[in-house]
Amino acid sequence: MSESLMARVLKGKYFPSRNLLEANINSNASFTWRSICSAKDVLLKGVCKVIGNGNDTCIWTDPWVPSIENSRIPHREGVMTGHEPYFVSDLFTAGSWKEDILRSHFNPWEVQAIKKIPLPMHDMVDSWMWKHTTSGLFTVKSAYYMELIEERKKKPTLSSCANRQVWQRLWSSKIQPRVKMFGWKVAHNGVLVRLNLVKKGMKLDQICPRCGEADESLEHMLMFCEGSRRVWYLSPLRLDVSTVRGGRVRDWVAFLESNKKEDECWALFWMLCWNIWVGRNAWVFEGVLRDPRVIVEKAVQGVVEVAKINDEAELRASINNTMVRWIAPSEGVYKINSDAAMFDGG
Ligand SMILES: [Zn+2]
Repeated sequence: MSESLMARVLKGKYFPSRNLLEANINSNASFTWRSICSAKDVLLKGVCKVIGNGNDTCIWTDPWVPSIENSRIPHREGVMTGHEPYFVSDLFTAGSWKEDILRSHFNPWEVQAIKKIPLPMHDMVDSWMWKHTTSGLFTVKSAYYMELIEERKKKPTLSSCANRQVWQRLWSSKIQPRVKMFGWKVAHNGVLVRLNLVKKGMKLDQICPRCGEADESLEHMLMFCEGSRRVWYLSPLRLDVSTVRGGRVRDWVAFLESNKKEDECWALFWMLCWNIWVGRNAWVFEGVLRDPRVIVEKAVQGVVEVAKINDEAELRASINNTMVRWIAPSEGVYKINSDAAMFDGG
């Protein structure tokens, strides 16, 4: 994390004596901090230490060998004597690895992997790098691909196939990176709605802060809360959430992906999800209540901006026309309304 003012404030408040990857969420954490922590699991999978003087890197717990899975030396259950070297600095001297120590503590393939790590020519401290970009700097895109590759390694199931398709399409959509990241969290139920925060161990009321009538699950926040229902119905998508079967957001997203071929609808769907979440946060953190029509308008505006189409009216017309052409699936999951003229006359 850089030394920006925000970074320094967050560090001072939440992890004064530790690094970001060891910090936890506490119950009075700010929205910004909770959002950062939610991305920590992804970071942990893709980071690796860059060895400088080796004084700050533990051989047995830190990720420091890039060519080994997870970059970590596999756990040695029952064989550690307590006399093993502890820091990476114990393993080399004057710019070269101590072969005898390596051979006495590591398997031949681990020795090979360790010897591939370049040692610095001059004194420098250990640092962190992100393994999935050549620059070593974190990008949302590379994190997305890392997750995608991990998902592919898993046994293929019907739902993971559907998920993969959703992810691939989500990534290639014409929406802002932050909206893609949000969509990815939706697919993994990683959005920090109250119910998920309670499941993470935070002590707070899990009731929806907007309507107070149900637990704030991902489904409730995005679909069933009264304000969200109205957004879906008022939007050019004209969705009536009360007719959605199953009621799981992930199922809904997969279903929408396989039945909605038009890119504008797909982009608009995610922009609506994102703006519902932003609207929810405006209420929770700033006490600002956003009218569903404003949320719809912001979502449509978002699609227009990203599409970079000069003729805004043309795109709006195309979105509305697409909705009219939209054929309802046989299960009756969507309610279609051909009177999609809410943007006429502004
Ligand atoms: Zn609610």
